[in-house]
Amino acid sequence: AQMIRLQNVSKTYYPRGKSAGVEALKAVDLHVPKGQIHGVIGLSGAGKSTLIRCVNLLERPTTGTVTVDGQELTGLSGDALNQARHRIGMIFQHFNLLTSRTVYANVALPLELMGLKTDEIRERVTPLLELDRLADKARHYPAQLSGGQKQRVAIARALASRPRVLLCDEATSALDPHTTGAILELLQDINQKLGLTILLITHEMEVVKTICHRVSLISGGELVEEAEVGDFFTAP
Ligand code: ADP
Ligand code: ADP
Repeated sequence: AQMIRLQNVSKTYYPRGKSAGVEALKAVDLHVPKGQIHGVIGLSGAGKSTLIRCVNLLERPTTGTVTVDGQELTGLSGDALNQARHRIGMIFQHFNLLTSRTVYANVALPLELMGLKTDEIRERVTPLLELDRLADKARHYPAQLSGGQKQRVAIARALASRPRVLLCDEATSALDPHTTGAILELLQDINQKLGLTILLITHEMEVVKTICHRVSLISGGELVEEAEVGDFFTAP
């Protein structure tokens, strides 16, 4: 079954004060089956960030449909869209943690927003901190953590709402190679243990080679090639 389906998705930005629009995505079709790790690789400005933000409707596509776990998100708005977004976790290059909250409270935040009770929140957050090897950091603040630890907190937070899909927006680009390796291992672990489908965008070949099953190449807002990772990197 397809977990993520983008059909004919286009996105045109209309910057204020300019008459011409910027076509960031052009008729993108993308299908990611359940349980896969799919990478989208491309140069800066190719449309990667726009593409991944269209999957959870942080950006609304100008045309086309986005379907996640059988639900068409492009038809939703308001509460229905917020509900659907609980099935989609996201992590970012710069982690986006709240500096005033402890590790525990950062991971608990989406659950508080969902209206869960304190006990239910603890039951979910504690095992997530263990999975991400953060149990001894629960009372620390983000400023006391390394980059790799911060990203692990962000991953735990993204998993708190028990999503079916994890979106990774250049998740290792701010990390050194050793820490990158550790985060990629954690993502692989999550993919295998939880059966979570992962869509990631990156400009780094190494990331794709290390954990992706399939890869798409994006250029000028278009997906110009798609292959199994093994075939993609075969020398000519
Ligand atoms: P990438 O993530 O691959 O670097 P982006 O999706 O950020 O690519 O950008 C794709 C194109 O859309 C670029 O030409 C970029 O300048 C443009 N773009 C991105 N966001 C906006 C925006 N909010 N307003 C106008 N143009 C934008
Ligand atoms: P906003 O800053 O748009 O108000 P929220 O208050 O909904 O965002 O969420 C705060 C943080 O919690 C965000 O940075 C977001 O990354 C994270 N978050 C919220 N809901 C989820 C979710 N379902 N999965 C992963 N992370 C989430």
